[in-house]
Amino acid sequence: MPARYDEPMNRDIQRVVITHRQIARRVDELARQILADHRPATAAQPAPITIIPILTGAMIFCADLIRRMPVVLRIELLTVSSYPGDSQKSQGAKLLAAHVGDLQGRHVLLVDDILDSGGTLRLVVPKLRELGAASVKTCVLLRKDRASARQTPVDYVGFDIPDEFVVGYGLDYNHLYRNLPRIVTLKSHVMGA
Ligand code: 5GP
Ligand code: MG
Repeated sequence: MPARYDEPMNRDIQRVVITHRQIARRVDELARQILADHRPATAAQPAPITIIPILTGAMIFCADLIRRMPVVLRIELLTVSSYPGDSQKSQGAKLLAAHVGDLQGRHVLLVDDILDSGGTLRLVVPKLRELGAASVKTCVLLRKDRASARQTPVDYVGFDIPDEFVVGYGLDYNHLYRNLPRIVTLKSHVMGA
């Protein structure tokens, strides 16, 4: 077999949890659902939504999602970190940077990669309300099968997945693997176990 350039990354994969095709189909459905919910039945011109991806993990999901939302919308950015470096356990969500303009009266859709302990949403949603957002909805691509995730209110969920550490499609391990187009688990030796 000739060497393939993607071999070094692919050989670290333990198991594919969600394929690229499954993600694409679901992102399509989510975009349609979000638009349908946002459009007021009577108004001809609904207020533009403000989309806020939580960086860095939600960057790829959000980029795909908004390109399936052919409406006038605004984008603002928040950076939150809870798994610094090579940790596989949340160290508590910390707001690292906010590139957020005036949110007075805006309808915000917060987009995150994965709902795990719920710490990120519990940190950020009240902050956006304090900044004057008229409404805050939340959308995550993945939700882990654990009580703290299920008990966290969220408006849109792409997939419910087992309670395992996953990477790909924006999610990293130690800053790597975000560019994998699928959601996977990693072999244990890769994660230093
Ligand atoms: P929460 O704040 O709900 O505990 O977790 C949300 C954040 O933790 C996610 O945005 C993500 O940055 C990180 N996180 C939680 N679970 C995982 C996981 O399985 N893999 C990776 N790469 N990050 C995760
Ligand atoms: Mg995150």
